[in-house]
Amino acid sequence: MSNLILEKYSIGVGDRFAHQAKAQLAACMRAAECGVAVIPVWNKSNREHKIVGSEPASVRAAADRAVREVGWKRPYHVDADHINLGTVERFVEPSDFFTLDVAETIGRAPEAGAAEEFVGRHKELVGRIEIAGIAEPFQVSREQALGAACKYLRAVREAGEIYRHIDGRKGAGTFITEVSMDETDSPQTPPELLLILAAIADEQIPIQTIAPKFTGRFNKGVDYVGNVEQFEKEFSEDLAVIAHAVPRYGLPQNLKLSVHSGSDKFSIYAPIRRSVRRFNAGVHLKTAGTTWLEELIGLAEAGPQGLALAKEIYARAYEHLDELCAPYAAVIDIDPRRLPAPGEVNRWTAEQYTGAVRHDQKSPLFNPSVRQLLHVGYKVAAGMGERYTRMLEACEHDIARNVTANLWERHLEPLFVRK
Ligand SMILES: [Zn+2]
Repeated sequence: MSNLILEKYSIGVGDRFAHQAKAQLAACMRAAECGVAVIPVWNKSNREHKIVGSEPASVRAAADRAVREVGWKRPYHVDADHINLGTVERFVEPSDFFTLDVAETIGRAPEAGAAEEFVGRHKELVGRIEIAGIAEPFQVSREQALGAACKYLRAVREAGEIYRHIDGRKGAGTFITEVSMDETDSPQTPPELLLILAAIADEQIPIQTIAPKFTGRFNKGVDYVGNVEQFEKEFSEDLAVIAHAVPRYGLPQNLKLSVHSGSDKFSIYAPIRRSVRRFNAGVHLKTAGTTWLEELIGLAEAGPQGLALAKEIYARAYEHLDELCAPYAAVIDIDPRRLPAPGEVNRWTAEQYTGAVRHDQKSPLFNPSVRQLLHVGYKVAAGMGERYTRMLEACEHDIARNVTANLWERHLEPLFVRK
């Protein structure tokens, strides 16, 4: 039986219109040249596929083609991002990485007696829990453990069901499994994460990455908003819990944290880098939508036609603000007063357009509201169909330069490579 293993460092890259895989791979090549292997994982959620009107097989095709053309010799993967039993079907064949999303089931009570049975069997989850790397031991009462079991057990069992379904279709060891619990209201405490991992082991899910909820806001396309010190503490405690749980529960040795909505979270890359090195741990950083913003920047730089199209996309996104923001309401913070009217944007130079969108927080032109509106505005470009993708091809050179630079300079280098 072959066991598909996710390597230590990996980056989830999204590519809404399946045209930038090569430019993204070029950033991983830069890391490899610096002696750091960062494995690319192309991820696209069901929500994105629905908005763009694409099929999961197109993600696989674009990844395979890019790997062939660039001559990438290391592993790469295609992630069925945030799927469940209802949506997994069309992802089964083309994907070799599955992010089982059970956040919706968190908080739903398990069947009668299940929590009591679980806590009765896992006596190590009650009382004083000492975890190497966390200064203070935890004191967990039976009631607290039962409460956590009631909150998470059903979600983990659902993850087990999804896992077994995929396993039945693809065969054990042929795919990578992640369990995501990030899209929920509050961060998991270390004892809760430990309990979740014990339950995942009971379900015999060979989990290689887990995405807990972290403190602070992970808004799309902008920097982390929250207490960075608190984040670093929680992040390294999560690493300590994983190191504690792996040998005790027989979980995969390479189990690591997955950070979702990870693009542009510049202020936490140094804390993550320090923490994973301290624990000699791996990390998976999942990004998605900012490659599409680099497409807009590249279009604007490529000449009058590209710039005109980029402005038209802004104008249409502005008109459909409410509709475009609705599916992302929890993860964007747009200040409508900071959105210029389309008439004003139509008079902008290429420098003004790229200055507003490009994520350079020091630039006086940077406008996070414009950036976030365009971030969720990819539906507008999807509606343009070939008119948009033909322009991507015509402006490929300018776009690729921006896609690669964004991924390399602002993500891979500070997170994985910097000393
Ligand atoms: Zn997520």
